[in-house]
Amino acid sequence: MNIKSIIFTIVFVFSVLFFLKNCYRLLKYLKIGKSEARNDRFSARLLNVIKIAFGQQKLLREPLAGMMHFAIFWGFIILLLAIIESMGEGLIPNFNLSFLGPLYPILLAIQELMGIFVLISVLFALWRRYVIRPKRLEVKGHSQFDATLILVLILLIMLSMFGQNTMQILKSDIPVEGRFISKQFAYMFTGLSSDNSKLWFEIFWWLHILIVLGLLNYLPYSKHLHILTSIPNVYLAKLDNRANLKMLNLADETVTKFGASDVEDLTWKQLLDGYTCTECGRCTASCPANITGKPLSPKKIIMDVRARTIEKAPRIVTDQLSFVNGQWLNKNNEIANDELLSKHLIDNYITEDEIWACTTCMSCVQECPVQIEHIDTIMDMRRYLVLNESRFPKELQVVFQNLERNFTPWAFSHASRADWADGLNLSLMSERKEVDVLYWVGCAGSYDERYKKVARAFSKLMQIAGIDFAILGTEEKCNGDPARRAGNEYLAQMLIMDNITTLSKYKFNKIVTTCPHCYNTIKNEYPQFGGKYKVVHHSDFILELINSGKLKPAKIQKNKITYHDSCYLGRYNDIYDAPRKVIKSIPGIKTFEMKRSGDKGLCCGAGGARMFMEENIGKRVNHERTEEALAFHPDVICTACPFCMTMLTDGVKDKEAGEKVYVRDIAELVLEGIEM
Ligand code: SF4
Ligand code: SF4
Repeated sequence: MNIKSIIFTIVFVFSVLFFLKNCYRLLKYLKIGKSEARNDRFSARLLNVIKIAFGQQKLLREPLAGMMHFAIFWGFIILLLAIIESMGEGLIPNFNLSFLGPLYPILLAIQELMGIFVLISVLFALWRRYVIRPKRLEVKGHSQFDATLILVLILLIMLSMFGQNTMQILKSDIPVEGRFISKQFAYMFTGLSSDNSKLWFEIFWWLHILIVLGLLNYLPYSKHLHILTSIPNVYLAKLDNRANLKMLNLADETVTKFGASDVEDLTWKQLLDGYTCTECGRCTASCPANITGKPLSPKKIIMDVRARTIEKAPRIVTDQLSFVNGQWLNKNNEIANDELLSKHLIDNYITEDEIWACTTCMSCVQECPVQIEHIDTIMDMRRYLVLNESRFPKELQVVFQNLERNFTPWAFSHASRADWADGLNLSLMSERKEVDVLYWVGCAGSYDERYKKVARAFSKLMQIAGIDFAILGTEEKCNGDPARRAGNEYLAQMLIMDNITTLSKYKFNKIVTTCPHCYNTIKNEYPQFGGKYKVVHHSDFILELINSGKLKPAKIQKNKITYHDSCYLGRYNDIYDAPRKVIKSIPGIKTFEMKRSGDKGLCCGAGGARMFMEENIGKRVNHERTEEALAFHPDVICTACPFCMTMLTDGVKDKEAGEKVYVRDIAELVLEGIEM
């Protein structure tokens, strides 16, 4: 071994050991979180990794920035072989991968090309961060330094690689075929003597190696930790129904705290989310609460989880602390409370205003390129506040009382739940016992004056189509979604179990509902409690009836219409096409899409029980959405959700457009297209 190999081996071994020690430290911190199984369905998870991590599917939703990241990501993977080759040179002089035969020059050419791509992408990223300055990349202090440092280090790695390759050509002691870019650089330095090119080769080589090893060891201390954690995080992400809530076992008497007030109450996966945040800001840029000036930023929530984990976990791990009867005890059972331990994620990092501003629209989860699950963390904090401390917006007190007494969020008597159907001659499940379709009306269809008209219109459509259906009438109770999203799991589970007991008395092939919140909860969350049903939203159901010829909307409607996507229908359940196809089936209608539509649609502001809370901070979300719709001067704004209907109807009134613009449900449009 020569002196270069000895020094390199020492530096390399020390760097790798230090890096592994830091990785192990970070892994140990995850252990303070609660357990959670995320190792099922290997092939589906692998497919996600291929699509989202290697295919960069989510990043490419924003084409320019996505392409830039794509080039850096793939550039680095391909350049990894170049780095391995350089490291080999540290052990064996003139080491190279020429044993690959004819593939070697091809590999070198691709590496050179990717090197240039990465250089351009890094320069573009720096220009974007410092010249264009998109709002979502606004970060201060250490985060800004961190982002810049990483970009500069990548830049230096690329420059030193080209320097090394160029000097290798000049000292020409290994084959250079394929290095077509470095060859051009070499022409510029043809006057350099062989000794000097050998010296410069060593300088560039050491620079390259030291920066690569330096970057590797900086990762565990930086937001670029995501380079290590994003692929595992994508693999471990929820596969289906990513924003649906997990069940709390309220019967477990050993549990003394429900939900999460601090990081040790979250699961290891939620803590891993914290490690994985790239601070790209895509979640916050699409968050309706943030867009309208509320204090909530989903990015900040995840960064707060990381900061608090890094602050608290070392203490718990090093001192082997455990939390017993409201006290932190060390391994000798001595009380270990101090200022650091008495702080909490809630209040000290995240305020109540942030927690209650969330509409659970799922936009953050949808946009996040590394599959972070923000809603779970926000909901766990709501659950803590409600179930342990009874801290919630005062308006929810009345909602909870109504749900307990009237089984609906509103102050209507339960006995009047079926009054909306007066004169329609509908059957009750208690009379029929067995039907093809059970129409789940929901609270809005039962009590809201405007939405009662939708329930009636949809019932008439089913009668026209000759559907064998019945309703539960006064046996139906709120599906539990408002209580669940407001953090009151206890009340939600009561309603869910009552409904499942009622449904178990009857036979039906499917449940059809006009409410995406009922649809989502009964379809995706009732199975946690043993209630498994085939559930269909009325948009899919009406489309099926039109396609089969049972409904024929033939009357021409000369309306210009835009469709507003309900978050719980679209992002939660991937139903985007059916309502649009239903609208387009009506002759004469012209449709247009709003700026934010489909899976990029903007929430109406009512989800996550926000429907029942005051909106005192910032601009109203429904105003933001209504303005977007009104910009195209529609005749009708079409919805397929009672909450969206209320929010947009209010928005249109507030914007004084109520005389010209109507808010209609798809069922009403189809009925108008049928009734002459
Ligand atoms: S779910 Fe919607 S409102 Fe809540 S944090 Fe995410 S983007 Fe914001
Ligand atoms: S949570 Fe996801 S989308 Fe939001 S800043 Fe972090 S990586 Fe980006």
